Amino acid sequence: MTTLVPQARPGHTGDTGSITIVDPRSGEIVGSVDEADRDEVGYAVDRARQAFPGWSATAPAERGTALHRLADALVGAADELAALNERETGKLLGDSLGGVMAGASTLRQYAELGPVHRGTSLLGNRDAADWTTPEPYGVVAVVTPWNDPVAVACGLIGAALVMGNTVVHKPSERCPHLGVRFGELLEAALPSGVFQTVSGGGQVGSLLTEQDGVDVVAHVGSSVTGRKIARVAALTGAHVVRENGGNDALIVDADVDPVWAAEQAALGSFANAGQICTSVERIFVHRDIADEFLDALVAETKRWNDAGRLGPLVDRRLRDEVDAQVRAALDAGATALVGGQVPDGAGSWYPATVLTGCRPSMEIMTEETFGPVAPVSVVDSFDAAIEAAVNDRYGLAATVLTGSLVHANRAARDLPVGTVKINAAFGGAPGGAAQPRKDSGSGFGYGPELLDEMSLTKVVHQGVPVLRKAVS
Ligand code: NAD
Repeated sequence: MTTLVPQARPGHTGDTGSITIVDPRSGEIVGSVDEADRDEVGYAVDRARQAFPGWSATAPAERGTALHRLADALVGAADELAALNERETGKLLGDSLGGVMAGASTLRQYAELGPVHRGTSLLGNRDAADWTTPEPYGVVAVVTPWNDPVAVACGLIGAALVMGNTVVHKPSERCPHLGVRFGELLEAALPSGVFQTVSGGGQVGSLLTEQDGVDVVAHVGSSVTGRKIARVAALTGAHVVRENGGNDALIVDADVDPVWAAEQAALGSFANAGQICTSVERIFVHRDIADEFLDALVAETKRWNDAGRLGPLVDRRLRDEVDAQVRAALDAGATALVGGQVPDGAGSWYPATVLTGCRPSMEIMTEETFGPVAPVSVVDSFDAAIEAAVNDRYGLAATVLTGSLVHANRAARDLPVGTVKINAAFGGAPGGAAQPRKDSGSGFGYGPELLDEMSLTKVVHQGVPVLRKAVS
């Protein structure tokens, strides 16, 4: 199983600089990580190419066993990884630990699903044999964000590896120490060259995805980056899977308990300080319960601000972006019922915020806001709520809270998003997967179907040969 890679590792030229990270809770410096340069990125892809024949020829069950080893390594280092995650991104320790354990569990799922992934036997001519079979692509570039860094990376990496691909991972520049440590653990548990990490920012991601030796680019991150990656891949011919941004609507119907609806709205808007791709981004509440809902949302939001349930934003750059969107909404006539102000002091804290009077044209409603902001718009009917929710360039997910089966079914049918949640801001059964719509990405970024994204299907037709006659 060991693959020999004869090439020499290039020396780091240092011409790409380094990334310095500060703790978003305190502003204290965590440390610096060197960015990979062009030669190092090229070298990683070459090594991955050289490791591919050996890894793809390894029995799938053996690859599954290797994934269990990776999961064991993560679980063994879970406290260390979670502490690093909290220090670099501010993600609460319990949530960081949950992310590491979720990542390990995803690796175990793919360890089991990969070896039983099937081709099909086909009903052809009776004397022939016809079947399809999945084959690995080659080298997969996995480019990931910081908001749930271990869990997100494990899904893409696990599916790629178990199908026989080799992987070069570019973790987020906002948690580079975590990225390096995560990479060390995985690399140590796999044959040489099968998994590697290149550190750096968007420039390094760009260097990686431009490589001719990359067969698949799997990107989780913003829609702006996703579009750039799709353009580059159109030139290199790489297959692309993109899980990108969202601007998820929450519709609150007239017949639900306003207090429960407010709790769901707060959870959807403020969990992980609003830094989740499927955070609630726009709230459309029916006029009949709007006053009660807003009173309850204000009370619930104050509880979020008081109870230590809210971590800081990942850095001041993101806080400035969130604040700019809130300021623009206030300038255009919205009202902040809670929060809406950058606090004094160190770190990049931002309070849970409720805005009312939000109109469809405001940036807070048209763009993803990666922060703890709940922008509310009051609507006259369920139809008006659906119409407003549909009018969006993203298509990741949406939630509807309703007691009406007719309205629930209508939302499920008419909302142009990958995931529709009815009567729960978060949740879903294992195995559920969907392709994001519109500017939210392309392909299956998770679930069993990700195994199809990480493999190419071959169809085989085998006829009966005519043998030459024996010469007497
Ligand atoms: P980002 O796109 O800025 O960064 C993600 C990764 O892409 C990083 O590793 C970054 O260095 C890299 N990158 C940046 N520019 C690149 C380029 N030109 N070429 C190649 N790689 C490049 O996103 P982010 O700010 O780290 O993450 C937040 C975004 O991710 C939000 O929009 C969020 O909704 C989205 N997200 C989506 C999902 C999902 O499943 N849909 C999950 C988590 C996060």
